[in-house]
Amino acid sequence: MNPVSTTQQQDRSVASALDAVLQQAKAIQMRADHETVSVFEALGRVLADDVVSPIDVPPHDNSAMDGYAFDGSQLSADKALTLAVCGRVLAGAPLTLRVEKGQCVQITTGAVMPEGLDTVIPKELVVLDDKGQVVIAPGTLRQGDNRRFRGEDLAQGKAALSAGTHLGPAALGLIASLGLAQVQVQRRLRVAVFSTGDEILSLGQAPRPGAVYDSNRYTLHGMLTQLGCSVVDMGAVPDQPEALEAAFRSAVHQSDVVVTSGGVSVGEADHTKAVMARLGADPMHPEQGIGFWRIAMRPGRPMAFGSLPRPGAVTESDRVLVFGLPGNPVAVMVTFMVFVRPALLQLQGRNQDEAMITEAQCEHAISKKKGRTEYLRGRLARSPSGRVTVAVVGNQGSGVLRSMSEAHCLIQLPPDCAGVEAGQSVHVMPFSGFL
Ligand code: AMP
Ligand code: MG
Repeated sequence: MNPVSTTQQQDRSVASALDAVLQQAKAIQMRADHETVSVFEALGRVLADDVVSPIDVPPHDNSAMDGYAFDGSQLSADKALTLAVCGRVLAGAPLTLRVEKGQCVQITTGAVMPEGLDTVIPKELVVLDDKGQVVIAPGTLRQGDNRRFRGEDLAQGKAALSAGTHLGPAALGLIASLGLAQVQVQRRLRVAVFSTGDEILSLGQAPRPGAVYDSNRYTLHGMLTQLGCSVVDMGAVPDQPEALEAAFRSAVHQSDVVVTSGGVSVGEADHTKAVMARLGADPMHPEQGIGFWRIAMRPGRPMAFGSLPRPGAVTESDRVLVFGLPGNPVAVMVTFMVFVRPALLQLQGRNQDEAMITEAQCEHAISKKKGRTEYLRGRLARSPSGRVTVAVVGNQGSGVLRSMSEAHCLIQLPPDCAGVEAGQSVHVMPFSGFL
């Protein structure tokens, strides 16, 4: 019998485990293969080099409104300004005509500001007199209003986006606005995935007593794909040392990262640990290889983590990261979000700040044991006063995917928390952006 108190002391905190994972990920030297892709194909990819603007954006001073453009130095604080309309300038058709003092031109949004003009009065503020002249009451606007400057968004030669940026829709638009049709991105990380367990059925196999369908490969596939990785699906591997060893060898051969599920707890059939330990053992570097952690968290207490040399590696740092996640389906997802995702971002050279943790007001009390980090499935809502609120959703068993699929976020309760009262603020990790 294991006394609970000493077991608790031996568990590693989430923060220290994450620290160790990130340190190993940082020490890995990724082969810097870049690819050139079209702007359309760049969505979700990670920029390999800074994008430097070859042009000024916008390329000329232009109007921010539909209205009338004029020389704003004529405005005075106490007298109305009357201007004769001498022409019209449309977006895409610059005006050649010279606009004198006392004159204005009708202008549309985005049209080039004619020479000498610096101010636009929006159409809805204009009063026309009986001669069709524009009358601007004092105090209506200031010189320079509603004009956008050349290079205001981006000056020529300036970095528009920096290496490591995860390219979203706005970045695609920005790249296109510079006239660039292609962009250099990091190659996709290759992640090999397999499940372990004699009881695991693959889709298409007939049910049999005691067996369960594999769900971990599918949640992992989804999470990895959303992170822009290419997934090498290696199926389900039975709890047999030879089969597991062959799977690991093959996985390491064809990937940058290996993620397995199951077989890392203390069950008798858990050969995964022994195989991992054997493959990772390196008498020259006993600190390297694969470690078996008990993490002070729920769900997801057992996890194997480390790295193996990449076959054919010439440098010490050319290694493949290995995560042996627990078998329970929700524990897989939680440990992925907490440990695997940050490591993948690190390997992708991607900025870490996207892992958003925010706050919400908990709708009810939650009981909790001190000393470990707990992750609960939550649904977010908004209170009548506009505050973001969260409530625990469904059965919190670590194998219950249904409540995971109904949840919007994980509620993260830190080790020093001994319970939550209704109305208390808690940290939440929203799934959008993660999953
Ligand atoms: P293990 O960590 O291998 O002892 O597995 C813990 C629990 O998770 C057991 O109930 C397994 O049947 C279940 N499990 C393991 N792998 C999978 C999988 N790929 N899909 C669904 N359930 C799994
Ligand atoms: Mg198992």
